[in-house]
Amino acid sequence: MAGVEFVDVRKSFGAFPVIKGVDIDIADGEFVILVGPSGCGKSTLLRMLAGLENISAGEIRIGSQVVNSLPPKDRDIAMVFQNYALYPHMTVAKNMAFSLMLKNADKADMDRRVQAAAEILGLTKLLDRYPRQLSGGQRQRVAMGRAIVRDPQVFLFDEPLSNLDAKLRVAMRSEIKELHQRLKTTTVYVTHDQIEAMTMADKIVVMHDGIVEQVGAPLDLYDRPTNLFVAGFIGSPA
Ligand code: ADP
Ligand code: MG
Repeated sequence: MAGVEFVDVRKSFGAFPVIKGVDIDIADGEFVILVGPSGCGKSTLLRMLAGLENISAGEIRIGSQVVNSLPPKDRDIAMVFQNYALYPHMTVAKNMAFSLMLKNADKADMDRRVQAAAEILGLTKLLDRYPRQLSGGQRQRVAMGRAIVRDPQVFLFDEPLSNLDAKLRVAMRSEIKELHQRLKTTTVYVTHDQIEAMTMADKIVVMHDGIVEQVGAPLDLYDRPTNLFVAGFIGSPA
């Protein structure tokens, strides 16, 4: 496992700066939530950590390694997206095994990993189904299964629950937290939902317009917001 560090990270799209010097320190095994209004740069930060977007300046480290110029496949990271991006023509088992197949993993090892992930996520009986035969929550679990089988150093989640109805969203929060307690994988989780952040995070990073406004444990932010933006954002309903 490994921690993650952003050091004075900047990003512009053309002449338009969207990340304006961000420092974040994430400890090994920590569950950190990036929260902030739509358009403040959360997804861009995650995508830079995953290597899906170049960084304009600064440094990103995973463990002791500077990953700025490493291609995504060489970063020991697995990302769960909002829209799940499951392959419709592949079974649940294939969906989970696919990234391992790309890495030419040994077949027996691959099966073992898929079985183990399916057990953790309660998908054992659904391995032969296709995504269209699953509920929203089950699809979300498959998307998580795809990340788990890779046994990465870091999990990234980008608004993974925003397509689910309110009841399921609450249930999945607990599932994701239980998963983290079990695997203890360093996790960076993005949401614009304050309640999600307050209930799930070890540490919250409040972002606003390309900068970090405040970093702290949920109760610290609630009790001692350092400015009006944080106070307003943390205090307002989702
Ligand atoms: P968030 O995830 O917090 O909603 P994003 O990281 O997606 O925010 O976007 C931050 C800003 O960067 C927004 O103003 C968005 O329009 C802009 N942006 C994101 N991706 C691109 C891109 N590929 N090209 C140009 N602008 C982009
Ligand atoms: Mg986003």
